[in-house]
Amino acid sequence: MSEINYIEGWPQPYPLLDAEPYWSALQESRLTYQVCGSCEQAVWPAHSFCPHCGVQALEWKESCGRGTVYSFSTVMRGPTQTWASIVPYTVGFIQMEEGYYLFSQINGAPEDIAIGKAVQVEFQLRGKQNLPVFDLAEGIARPAGTER
Ligand SMILES: [Zn+2]
Repeated sequence: MSEINYIEGWPQPYPLLDAEPYWSALQESRLTYQVCGSCEQAVWPAHSFCPHCGVQALEWKESCGRGTVYSFSTVMRGPTQTWASIVPYTVGFIQMEEGYYLFSQINGAPEDIAIGKAVQVEFQLRGKQNLPVFDLAEGIARPAGTER
């Protein structure tokens, strides 16, 4: 294992080759994921082949950024000085509309966050990496015609 690289106190990602397009898109505030060109299932985390059917036909697509809270945990004592400076904060799995699960930070008062609540991606610069974080979607208007 290589050492974790910190910038301004924030741990920076070690971009594995398969996930490099994901990290690059984030720098442009775009959330992307992989889809299998054969079985059409969403694939996450990034792979070089489809974990569902084994075919090497993965394509990158842009996520709509919407999902629901699948699980979460609120951190009261940060593991480093930087994390401690933003407590309490909540992290958890987001079930994305495209059918994959993304682990991320969920913004909002801990008492307002609940399993099944709708969330919407936002982006936050941490050190030199733009990262996806999620806001509770209540009150966020969806453009007409995008309801599912
Ligand atoms: Zn597949």
